[in-house]
Amino acid sequence: MIAHATRLAETSSEPLFRVRGLRVGFAGAGGSLLEAVRGLDFDLSRGEVLGIVGESGSGKSLAMLASLGLQARSAVVSGSVVFKQKELVGSPRKEMRRLRGSQISMIFQDPLSSLNPVMTVGDQIREALFLHQRGLSTAKATERAIELMRLVAIPQPDRRLAQYPHEFSGGMRQRVMIAMAIANNPELLVADEPTTALDVTVQAQIMLMLRELKEKLGLALVLITHDLGVVAGHADRVAVIYAGRVVEEAKVGELFANPRHPYTRGLIASIPDLRGSQGKLYSIPGTAPALGQLPPGCAFHPRCSYAQDICRQVEPPEISFGAHRSACHFAADLPAWTGGARAAETLEPAHNG
Ligand code: SF4
Repeated sequence: MIAHATRLAETSSEPLFRVRGLRVGFAGAGGSLLEAVRGLDFDLSRGEVLGIVGESGSGKSLAMLASLGLQARSAVVSGSVVFKQKELVGSPRKEMRRLRGSQISMIFQDPLSSLNPVMTVGDQIREALFLHQRGLSTAKATERAIELMRLVAIPQPDRRLAQYPHEFSGGMRQRVMIAMAIANNPELLVADEPTTALDVTVQAQIMLMLRELKEKLGLALVLITHDLGVVAGHADRVAVIYAGRVVEEAKVGELFANPRHPYTRGLIASIPDLRGSQGKLYSIPGTAPALGQLPPGCAFHPRCSYAQDICRQVEPPEISFGAHRSACHFAADLPAWTGGARAAETLEPAHNG
């Protein structure tokens, strides 16, 4: 296993993963291109956790799938995705297959449908090893599978190796998926809604385990979620995506202390807070625009309580405040942020439920 210290020694000034101007579109009527991802930029350094947050349909999962060459064949991808100084956009499928599962791994949200129901858990972990390690003996693969199951805290791994996925609970199945994802010592792990299908206590255990594995193995981790609450305790930096674009990015503490985009403010205000909300739950009014139905100007303007005329006409540029960036015309002029659920009161009162 590659030691954490070795990984850190490889640190260079270049980020491990750099995405610039990533666009993903699909052919629409009359030869038009309907873009679901509209020029995404972000970096990820070794050992860092980046939370990518957005509603369903915001393009967050599609952007990561396209970055790793897993988009549908009908998708049109442009821009640049560089992993360890190698351009991935346009790389041959064979090369991408070699990278995925070895240097880059992905965990999907539903472990039951991601695991093969007619193969034992042990065979599935061994298969992940054989795919990328030619000449590995069955005995060595079994030894490594047991080691991986221990690493993800599955009890009695030598016995459970022979069991089938239906004999595992939801949380244990997700641990198996994580064991398979880290089997070949990846440097980058992408977790797409890894806890959505799990109950709250198991969610917390899985998130804690991902964080511990990141520390132990020196991984860079991308955490894709619709839930800002999930990234609060686990990400170093957060990119908020709306309608295929990063609308705000900052270190996690800064984002929660001083959000500079009304959409982020709405997401934070939507996190239930039993201490300060006095029984009220806030939700952002309306829904995210469907593919091909982007409003003119700022894509968030139909839902934004701060919208002015310029918002309906001109797409906001990105404004930087040091390492904090926001794509809002009024990023520098929003009212002072009061924080948490009580902040819902500073947003449009008519929208409070
Ligand atoms: Fe709201 Fe205007 Fe900012 Fe868009 S640009 S988020 S509509 S204030």
